[in-house]
Amino acid sequence: MRKEKKPSADKPGSGTCSFKETFILYKRAVLLWCREYPKQFLYTGLHALITAGSPCFALYFTARLLNELAGAGRRAELIKWVVIILTVTAALSLLRVVLFRAKETYAAVQWNCLPSIYTKKILSMDYSAVDDARTYEKLAWVEQSENWGGHGMNRVFWQYERFLVELFKLIGGIALSVTLFSVKISEMTGGLTFLNHPICPLILLGCMVGTAAVNSSLEKVLQDRQNQCAESAKLGNRIFFFMHEFAFNRKRDLDIRMYQQEDSCINLFTANHYFDTKSYFAKLAKGIAGILTAVQTVLPSLLMGIVYLYVCLKAWAGAFDVGMITQYVGAVTTLSSAVTGIFKLAAEAGGNAYYLRGVFWFLDIPNDMYQGSLTVEKRVDRNYEIEFRNVSFRYPGAEDYALRHVSLKFQVGKRMAVVGQNGSGKTTFIKLLCRLYDPTEGVILLNGIDIRKYNYREYMSVFSVVFQDFQLLSLSLAQNVAAGENFDAKRVLDCLQKAGFTEIEEKFPKGLDTNIGKDFEEDGIWVSGGEGQKIAIARSLYRDAPFIILDEPTAALDPVAEYEIYSKFNEIVGDRTAVYISHRLSSCRFCDKILVFHNGEMIQQGSHEELLAKQDGKYAQLWNAQAKYYTN
Ligand code: ADP
Repeated sequence: MRKEKKPSADKPGSGTCSFKETFILYKRAVLLWCREYPKQFLYTGLHALITAGSPCFALYFTARLLNELAGAGRRAELIKWVVIILTVTAALSLLRVVLFRAKETYAAVQWNCLPSIYTKKILSMDYSAVDDARTYEKLAWVEQSENWGGHGMNRVFWQYERFLVELFKLIGGIALSVTLFSVKISEMTGGLTFLNHPICPLILLGCMVGTAAVNSSLEKVLQDRQNQCAESAKLGNRIFFFMHEFAFNRKRDLDIRMYQQEDSCINLFTANHYFDTKSYFAKLAKGIAGILTAVQTVLPSLLMGIVYLYVCLKAWAGAFDVGMITQYVGAVTTLSSAVTGIFKLAAEAGGNAYYLRGVFWFLDIPNDMYQGSLTVEKRVDRNYEIEFRNVSFRYPGAEDYALRHVSLKFQVGKRMAVVGQNGSGKTTFIKLLCRLYDPTEGVILLNGIDIRKYNYREYMSVFSVVFQDFQLLSLSLAQNVAAGENFDAKRVLDCLQKAGFTEIEEKFPKGLDTNIGKDFEEDGIWVSGGEGQKIAIARSLYRDAPFIILDEPTAALDPVAEYEIYSKFNEIVGDRTAVYISHRLSSCRFCDKILVFHNGEMIQQGSHEELLAKQDGKYAQLWNAQAKYYTN
């Protein structure tokens, strides 16, 4: 069977990435960080330079001081080296603190950076992609990879810092150890001159690279083992979050108490062994991971033994002063830990590339909708005409058509109702009208021009929609109605009034400035479903668009409030064209035209009286079915 590697629509591929793919993914990730977060990149780089450089300077000057102590011991020279060591160390420490401060200041920005990249991506997507469950699966995959193991973009940033530290350590280590290999043991001293042979530094270098390579391959095995359990770890992570959140969710808590589901919820946590000593990770730590980590720790210690032997033998044979032992041992230790660190990072990068592939799998979701450029004519007379010409639509990935061969024209300034049973295509019709989706077949025209040719945002501004599952934001009442930060308080009040929301003074202590909900403000106010619906209607009125679309606008209202809305519907809607979706046919009677949808087709249209006259028609059938509850 062919091994799956590349991401598909549903999976980000298998758990391994080639070197080339790793390189390409890392390049994209680093460029993305640099673009979004340039200052943190700069400060982190400079901080890494000082972090790696300080010990090298200290080694260099300390070796000079020790040489003087072990040699001539001149007082002035000793004072000079002490002053230099203190000055350089203090200056570097100060610089390091300053850079650390700058780096940490921007680190606060970093925490917001990834969520905002993902949020911007979602907000810039075609609605058809946002409405697609696969988009959320991709985002969930990315977020869970970050949550359970810090994989993905954040890890690239941490690795960038570690890589720079290792790189600067490597440079410092080479600079301080060059003379260890170049300085020769004098032939006069007799023994140990074989250490002058060029093969010796090569052997030392070979041991260093060999240790690093072995450690790196062990790291790769560890990474692969971790990646293999990514899916189950993420499920564990979901359960973890569920456990910490389920009891704090006001809405969910009600059902859990009523149906006494506490034990089932807690069993979910314990029965799966994700968080006990039988978990995959615990077993990994006890078994292979424990052994491999031990080997990774022991190998560098063995290497250090060889380094000490080489340096001490050369010093003993008189190649350099005893003070230089500190410099050379320190330098080779630094060099070897840098080589090991870089190899390890390379192995980690190979493992993390798998998660980066997931990140770009999400970020690369294309926007396929055609973006037109025509401006929508601003008409004072609001004389807009919409036409559906033989429109059919199938949701992405769906086999059946949600709408079939719909043709109609809207009469401007009229009230039009769309009725039909659940799943008959009413909401889909509205989504196409607002261009949240493009038709699969046919065309929708605004004033005779295909709506795809208009600038998208401008076209959207022609409509005010109150969706059935409308959402309010945790902002002030006024900002919710005005859908923005700046608002005309008088207009806001007027719209609330028209929508039947009259309880402002008694209910909202801070008037229009009261926050909806308590998410961000303690003195915010939770609103009921009916109150929320009135605020949503007020928001649609504030926008003052030529078309107003109301999807079950009174579903959450009590009968009195519903009656109030209908009795002044004409006043509310004014000269706008109103499209009105409802299950309750009695509330559509006042509309000039009623469209009846059934199984995705528009099967009837006409006024209430005309439709009722056709007793064998769907409308009459629905009307009679509902009427019997009121007349019996
Ligand atoms: P109504 O508003 O009349 O209740 P909808 O327009 O919401 O009906 O749905 C029409 C059909 O399209 C239904 O069969 C429904 O299952 C399907 N549908 C609705 N939304 C989606 C979606 N996002 N993806 C796939 N199918 C959908």
